[in-house]
Amino acid sequence: MVTPSPLPHLPLPTPNAARPFIVAGPCSAETREQVLETARALKAGGAVDWFRAGVWKPRTRPADFEGRGDEALAWLAEVRHEVGLPVTVEVANAAHVEAALAHGLDGVWIGARSTVSPFAVQEIADALSGTSLPVWVKNPMHADLKLWIGAIERVERAVKGPVAAIHRGFSSYGLKAYRNAPMWEIPIGLRAERPELPILCDPSHISGDRNRIASVAQRALDIGMHGLMIEVHPRPDEAWSDAAQQVTPEGLATLLAGLHPRTSRTDADHLHGLSALRLQIDSLDDQLVEILAHRMAIARKIGAFKKENGLAILQLERWAEVLGTRTGWAGDRAVGVSFMARFLELLHEESIRVQSEDPS
Ligand code: PEP
Ligand code: MN
Repeated sequence: MVTPSPLPHLPLPTPNAARPFIVAGPCSAETREQVLETARALKAGGAVDWFRAGVWKPRTRPADFEGRGDEALAWLAEVRHEVGLPVTVEVANAAHVEAALAHGLDGVWIGARSTVSPFAVQEIADALSGTSLPVWVKNPMHADLKLWIGAIERVERAVKGPVAAIHRGFSSYGLKAYRNAPMWEIPIGLRAERPELPILCDPSHISGDRNRIASVAQRALDIGMHGLMIEVHPRPDEAWSDAAQQVTPEGLATLLAGLHPRTSRTDADHLHGLSALRLQIDSLDDQLVEILAHRMAIARKIGAFKKENGLAILQLERWAEVLGTRTGWAGDRAVGVSFMARFLELLHEESIRVQSEDPS
């Protein structure tokens, strides 16, 4: 067991820093060699402030790789002592916190699946009570700003050290453009409510695809987020979890070099008045396009079904029902009824066009 001793300089995400604060490392600690190889490459690159790795992995299906558990904490302790990068790990219960503390790790984060549960967050906060470790709280899986703020408050009440938030996007069933929809209006809401709280973005879990990380990361910097948490693996395609979204250490260097640091304009303007409202419109339009894409994909399936079963594409009764119900829903929500009718006509026309397309 390693005796805890603070690193001489523990960098923290700070508002108005000259460059974004960077946390990087593999989704999961897989082997000692993989952990140390990644950490050494990141340290040599010089752009990374903290090392991250998951040791207990909250997986959707029980057969998925669930992490190496306690034995991997010794590898993380080696990273901080031998490589010299501060290390953070995800904790999901009191036993995890105790193990992370016993190994002298520098910080912990609470994952999205834990943030949804006030019981889990309270248990973690109690286990951290009185400690000074930096604690980072990811947003809950679903888009609930109050639940996120509540989790942050539970931690703040318990610990003496710095607390920060991590935006990792929100689960959205059936919507595919992102693994987790960014819904920028939620972190913007957090910034409006807690302007002094540092906030990082995790573009890896938002994108789910390494080719999309840069654009999400840039967007985060543009709205004044203080740093990024990015998953890095020496051989991403061989990763035991989240392979598609991990980048190599060289890939990280290229990605970071391509980002434009935020200007002072972003902090001042983006979070207030017209710009903040426009950012919310941008995010909602992004979701609208995503929903339209999903709707068209279903229309194509309906087209294939009608073709197979010899049904006509245009079904007047169904169209009358769609028009009637949707204009009613619009009226109930103070959306113009005649606007809604015109919008539905356009949508219907497009739906018929895609249903008529030859699927082959
Ligand atoms: C992770 O960072 O590896 C992780 C599991 O993230 P999240 O809680 O955002 O899904
Ligand atoms: Mn991951």
